Amino acid sequence: VGRLQDKVAVITGGAGGIGKVTAQHFLDEGASVVLVDLFEDALAEAKKELGGKVLTVQADVSKEEDVQKYVDKTVEQFGKIDIFFNNAGIEGKVAPITEQKVEDFDKVIAVNVRGVFLGLQKVLPVMIKQKSGSIINTSSVAGLGGSPNVSPYITSKHAVVGLTKAAAVESAPHGIRVNSIHPSPVNTRMMRSLETGLEVDEATMAKSIPLGRYGESDDIASLVVFLASDESTFITGSQYRIDGGMAAL
Ligand code: NAD
Repeated sequence: VGRLQDKVAVITGGAGGIGKVTAQHFLDEGASVVLVDLFEDALAEAKKELGGKVLTVQADVSKEEDVQKYVDKTVEQFGKIDIFFNNAGIEGKVAPITEQKVEDFDKVIAVNVRGVFLGLQKVLPVMIKQKSGSIINTSSVAGLGGSPNVSPYITSKHAVVGLTKAAAVESAPHGIRVNSIHPSPVNTRMMRSLETGLEVDEATMAKSIPLGRYGESDDIASLVVFLASDESTFITGSQYRIDGGMAAL
């Protein structure tokens, strides 16, 4: 039996880099998986790659009715939600604060903060009824420190820490755990976009990481499986760095 045998997992940003690879790990560990993403075609592609057993729901995590929709569809199909990987996110524009557009700031906050909040707000009632559940919110090393020219992203990922702590203390009496993960650069579309904006390449960026490389989505998925599983039943409200040693610098 897998470490997530018979569990039901919802993954937002499920058609993206980290989301899709984590879905594969969840399936391998015996879970049923619901992928939530903005793009129908990417969802269809992911479903094909993952073997068709997954449920896909097109939704914009920043819209309340869409969030209610993915929660309702999951409960309709599977009757419960054991694991919620609250992971969808966007990187925003690369520019100093003085040159950021307020509309771009608002957009990043809408997806990365309101989206995470709405996910908690609609998933928690299901888990409270069950008296169990594990939620993993995706923050970043950008949620624990600063770095230049990505202020909307930095702001949003710090807010995810606050939401994680608030949700953890509220939910603990109901037997629900809530933790955040904090990756350094991971090899996905998002990093390709940030490299372009920041005008750096992977080799240069990797020099600032003691282990000398980007994380792979598989590295992140292994941590998420641990936090989703019953191997971590005394862990809640915690911030998990997964950063190739950057914190030790
Ligand atoms: P990605 O771009 O490959 O995946 C993100 C997914 O989220 C995409 O499939 C996208 O369509 C989806 N999405 C975006 N806006 C959405 C919305 N409004 N509603 C629903 N879905 C939406 O990038 P990724 O690297 O897999 O990112 C996953 C998470 O990891 C993000 O929260 C990101 O901030 C975080 N993260 C990434 C890195 C990295 O270096 N790649 C590092 C730290 C944290």
